[in-house]
Amino acid sequence: MGAAPAPQRATEAARRAASIRAVMLDVDGTLTDGTIWIGQDGETMKGFSVHDGFGLTLLRDAGIRLAIVTGRRSRIVEARAAELRIETVIQGVGDKGAALRELAARFGLPATAIACIGDDWPDLPAFALAGLAAAPVGASAPVLAAAHWVSTRPAGHGAVREFAEWLLAARGELDALLARYRSGGSPAPQAAPQ
Ligand SMILES: [Mg+2]
Repeated sequence: MGAAPAPQRATEAARRAASIRAVMLDVDGTLTDGTIWIGQDGETMKGFSVHDGFGLTLLRDAGIRLAIVTGRRSRIVEARAAELRIETVIQGVGDKGAALRELAARFGLPATAIACIGDDWPDLPAFALAGLAAAPVGASAPVLAAAHWVSTRPAGHGAVREFAEWLLAARGELDALLARYRSGGSPAPQAAPQ
């Protein structure tokens, strides 16, 4: 994919978007900028974007299932996933390809109905199986080369929001969702988590 001219790449990504029913999300370097705050008691903080969070809410509103799959283990990730009502969180994953297969079985979907967004080499086995591979700008070179779609906004600062809006637009669902929010008719207007 890496050598494909940009317009062809965009067309291919949009074609793939149509069959996506679930999104598998990496955490460090995708939902965060990759910084890990380590104190004397271990990992203490990660920073997340509310804009990314609302993008995930929009995907869920559109009926797309969400899963966090990360190689590290952190209670911070559990807390953020709970806040965003992300149903599936798998931490300490060594083989993200196997994790994607597990998700497909759990969701009752073919692997090709799952999009994967990630930034580094451990994401590549999942990229090879997923129906759509996405990366934040600034991802490692092999990941950028393998991705069908690359953000313009950086990881932890809107890359996932950009992906969510692009995916929904490519599926022809974004305008209707925006119209629902404009009219105050969002599925959970008081409690839309970000
Ligand atoms: Mg990562």
